[in-house]
Amino acid sequence: MSIKIDKEKCTACGKCLKVCPGSLIYKDETNKAFIKYEKDCWGCTACLKECKAGAIKYFLGADIGGKGACLHTIQDKDLLHWFIVKPDGKEEKITINQKDANKY
Ligand code: SF4
Ligand code: SF4
Repeated sequence: MSIKIDKEKCTACGKCLKVCPGSLIYKDETNKAFIKYEKDCWGCTACLKECKAGAIKYFLGADIGGKGACLHTIQDKDLLHWFIVKPDGKEEKITINQKDANKY
């Protein structure tokens, strides 16, 4: 499991650095985030949930989305949209209202 950070989308907010439990994410010379030790990522998705810019992609295992599928998020006020992008380019969206996140 691992993530990839798109520096074009990264706004250098630094939130992903703060939430990574393994301290795997660093800032480059322009304050954009990058993951230093990809193989050490255990896929907790904490960084994905914090990235309001949709700059982080999380690669899904073959048993979840198929080889090459990935996950990213887009924040819209209280709504967090999770997008699963399959290898053929098709997308599935799951939307969570973060106000309801601890409801159940
Ligand atoms: S998925 Fe979890 S462990 Fe992996 S880089 Fe993001 S916050 Fe760190
Ligand atoms: S949370 Fe997203 S926008 Fe903010 S530093 Fe990390 S990758 Fe960049």
